[in-house]
Amino acid sequence: MATFDFSREPVEVPQVKTQFRCIQTALPVPESLDVFEQLERLESRSMHGQMPIIWDRAKNFQIFDKWGNCWIDFTSTIFVANAGHANDAISKSLKKMLDKELLHTYTYASDIRTEFLNKLIDQTPNELEKAYLVSTGTEATETALKLMRLYAQYKKKNRPGIIAFDDSYHGRTFGAAQISSNSKQREWMGFEDPNVFHLPFPYPWDDLGNTVNESGYDRFEKDVNHLKAQGINLAKDIGGIIFESYIGWAAAFFPESYVQAWANCAKENDFLTTFDEVQSGFARTGPLFAYEHYDVKPDLICCGKGISSSLPLAAVLGRSEILDLPDIGSMSSTHSANPLSCAAGLANLKEIERLSLVKQSTIKGAFLHSRLQDIKKKNPEYISNILGAGMLASVIFNNSLSMDERANLASRICESAMRKGLLIVHTGRESIKIGPPLTIPQEALLEGLNVLQDSIDECTK
Ligand code: PMP
Repeated sequence: MATFDFSREPVEVPQVKTQFRCIQTALPVPESLDVFEQLERLESRSMHGQMPIIWDRAKNFQIFDKWGNCWIDFTSTIFVANAGHANDAISKSLKKMLDKELLHTYTYASDIRTEFLNKLIDQTPNELEKAYLVSTGTEATETALKLMRLYAQYKKKNRPGIIAFDDSYHGRTFGAAQISSNSKQREWMGFEDPNVFHLPFPYPWDDLGNTVNESGYDRFEKDVNHLKAQGINLAKDIGGIIFESYIGWAAAFFPESYVQAWANCAKENDFLTTFDEVQSGFARTGPLFAYEHYDVKPDLICCGKGISSSLPLAAVLGRSEILDLPDIGSMSSTHSANPLSCAAGLANLKEIERLSLVKQSTIKGAFLHSRLQDIKKKNPEYISNILGAGMLASVIFNNSLSMDERANLASRICESAMRKGLLIVHTGRESIKIGPPLTIPQEALLEGLNVLQDSIDECTK
């Protein structure tokens, strides 16, 4: 799919001044171009596909540049700032930790690590008994892969097979990439792990865009037969299955009965059920974790992003029996449980409770989804689906257009919204995604949705 180049030519755009947005310069800001040029000179090209605004400050649900422009944020950077950008309580605990003068501890014990872990285990569902802290989402999924494979070894299985899904994303490191997405994105490795078995994601539409009527259970049976036809014995060859709790680019959930059937199958055949909650965790979709929508109990979950609403922090949580499989010295990392990250994580968890963000995500999410359904009704030729749950939503563009045209339309809508003072998630595919901080007031949410409607109108004219 062709990548979209956001214009670096400053464009005179209509001025905007509302309670929540301000656009008062050409965009990109002419004075900002030098920064983009420097970054292009200094940094790898892979970092430079983003919309051309320069973040100077971000507070709660707003992003500010140095030139007086201010955007409503429907991205939470990328589903990180669930408790709001620069949340006061998080900033305060970071300042306290800076003043205390404890910036790094490696794997030596510290009070803040203990306090954070206590809160994390206490606040999360009972099946999650222990945690292992790391810095990034990809380290968390890489660790889950290792734990599922150690489990297969421990159970003396024939092979350490892992079931994963096409179109999912679990990170960019080697193991995480092996369980991610389609084979095209793994070509650089020159290696396909023969013990990772990808199943197609059960989208609610078929290749022609028609609604799929197959039950989740029927789909599960079909997938099991497909694996068996490849000579895979679920009891002897599989160590685990990993679900991205919803498929990232589309915010598409699995059918509930499909996940339940796999979770039962995993129990019967003694392999582990893992959910990648890196993007979906910490009240993004309503409940604390998106797997709770499926009414199953996982063995492992991977967390990141919204776990701190700010600093690099990630975790694998799960049953003690599994977290304790690696020996001392065989699962640790220099920056795991960094005191500042733990302080941010602890304050974040307290804020999720204090601000009732689980409830807020459900309430505001209902408003978000009902308004998006109105937008879909007004644009039936262009919008085929609104997916997601709680404060996560995607708008999927219709397949009356070619794949490239749809992706191009989505990108143009992102650019148009940015020029009007709204930031939405650019997926690079035939969707746009919406994930505001859960603390956004309803009036700002509504204002942002009205801007989105204007941008859709403008780009489909
Ligand atoms: N898993 C999922 C579901 C993700 O969305 C991401 C990040 N987009 C990752 C893993 C990787 O996280 P990180 O970028 O922190 O390594």
